[in-house]
Amino acid sequence: MWDIFAAGLAVKAQVPRAPTWALLIGVGFLDILFGPFVLAGIERATVTPGVSPGFSLDYIDWSHSLAMSLVWSILFAAAFARHGRPVMVAVGLAVFSHFLLDLPMHPPDLALWPDSAAHVGFGLWQKLMTTLPPACRASRVAHRLRDLARALMGTP
Ligand SMILES: [Zn+2]
Repeated sequence: MWDIFAAGLAVKAQVPRAPTWALLIGVGFLDILFGPFVLAGIERATVTPGVSPGFSLDYIDWSHSLAMSLVWSILFAAAFARHGRPVMVAVGLAVFSHFLLDLPMHPPDLALWPDSAAHVGFGLWQKLMTTLPPACRASRVAHRLRDLARALMGTP
């Protein structure tokens, strides 16, 4: 999850005029959509107590499919038209980076388009969580939190 914020800050380094808040919201935009979509019954998730990661994303085609990720990226970028093309491209890339970074981590629950039969995802998160000893998992989370704090404070 923290990798998405790193992606936003990497885009900021390339296009300093792009508002940091827009990049950080942009990288999480697909997840921001997911919450209201579940509440509205457009998408579905199931809580799975005792089974890592504790939930199953049953239908996230409208927030997280490849095609809709492109659509959300374009719409989000369009909201920054008055900032110029480089900023539009930067915030659009920030939104689309979410799909690219979810792809290796998610199980195959990322549709190519809404209601597509084909779903992608390499399941790396599940593999890490089931193969790493608990101490290693806690260490990885602690390191990610530290890296995020450093990035946000601008320290190396
Ligand atoms: Zn996501």
